[in-house]
Amino acid sequence: MQAQPQSSGPNPFCEVGRTHPRDRHRMRPVDGQAGVWECSRHDLFAQVVDKATADGLERGDPFPMHDGGEGVVVRHGDERQGGVLLYYRAKGA
Ligand SMILES: [Zn+2]
Repeated sequence: MQAQPQSSGPNPFCEVGRTHPRDRHRMRPVDGQAGVWECSRHDLFAQVVDKATADGLERGDPFPMHDGGEGVVVRHGDERQGGVLLYYRAKGA
């Protein structure tokens, strides 16, 4: 289940940037998808899910994409807006 969709708040850092301090960059909001961000450079997406959902997910688990496609969990990010930021990418990408 998704947390309350909100487009407010700072754009999250790209997960790739988080692990490479010299390449920190922020993700951009996805048009028409409140509370979803993307990094087109790394084909990475992020959205806020509630804590219970986040706790039940691990790296590599299937995760339904915002566009209805099949996604895969990459990692958990910071807590925000009462949920947890979850990074994911399209399956096979
Ligand atoms: Zn990136």
